[in-house]
Parts: sequence; C-alpha cells; structure tokens
Amino acid sequence: MNPEYDSNNIFAKILREELPCIKVYEDEYTLAFMDIMPQMEGHTLIIPKESAITIYDLTDEAALACMRTVKLIGTAVEKAVGFIGSTVFQHNGEHAGQTVPHFHFHVLPGSILDASSIKGHALELANPDDLERMAAKIIKCIENDQL
Ligand code: AMP
Repeated sequence: MNPEYDSNNIFAKILREELPCIKVYEDEYTLAFMDIMPQMEGHTLIIPKESAITIYDLTDEAALACMRTVKLIGTAVEKAVGFIGSTVFQHNGEHAGQTVPHFHFHVLPGSILDASSIKGHALELANPDDLERMAAKIIKCIENDQL
C-alpha cells in the first residue's frame, strides 16, 4: 500500500525554495543537486518536480525527464571526478531504505560494491565548500556537454 505524499519532506521544501540546495542543473521537470551526506565525492541527486514518492508513482513524462537528466548528470559527474564508470540507484519506500519520501536517483561516480571507496548511507555531512567546488566542476562539464 502506498502512503500519501508528504509535501513537507525535505526535497519538496527544496523545490519550493524553502530550503537551500547546491544545485547543478534544473529544467522544467527536474532538479539535480549535491547530496549533503555524500557516499563518495561527486554524489549527486536527481529529483522530479512532480510529487512522487517511488519510481512506481512517477508519470511517464516525469520518468522520462528524470532519465534524461540522469544521463546528462551521470556523464558530467564521471568527467568532473575523473572516474570512468558510475552507479545509479534509488530506493522505493522506507522498507527499502528510502529516507526522503520524494522520488530521487542517486548518481555515484564509482562502485557501490567496493566497500573501501563508499561511505555509509546518509551518515556524514560534507564540508559545504567542498560540495560547492565539486558542483562548479560538474556544472562546467554539463556546459561543455551541451556545446
Ligand atoms: P534515500 O535514503 O535514498 O531517500 O536518500 C536520501 C538522500 O538525501 C541521502 O543520500 C541523504 O544524504 C540526502 N539528503 C538528505 N537531506 C538532504 C539535503 N537537505 N540536501 C541534499 N541531500 C540531502
């Protein structure tokens, strides 16, 4: 059974600009920003602007828009970090480990199978200056990609 969407979740507040985020990309349907507790350098989140909790709640339009943004951001994040390869994942519901009930893709420039290169999930706040520096690199790579 699907719980009702809680419009007071953190990402809904970010979308309404009631809370800040370190944005790397935005279009009509999606927003991408730095994860503040990154599991590795370059950890980025992509969210739809529509109110959906899990991937199963997304409209086809939002699902397509998210995939388009994942492709753009994933490519840029790999380049920004200088790593060939990345992992894209998402959780559906709290029983599956979802801690923010607004749909999101995680993009990690590395392997989640390599325990030595990955930190715990949503455990440790990163230095905001480091996140800003990484976001600036990702934005540059997106701009180069769109030339
Ligand atoms: P999940 O557990 O799959 O719902 O992932 C939620 C992610 O959101 C975690 O990786 C958190 O580190 C991240 N997160 C939580 N609050 C914020 C925030 N205010 N800005 C950016 N990322 C956040």
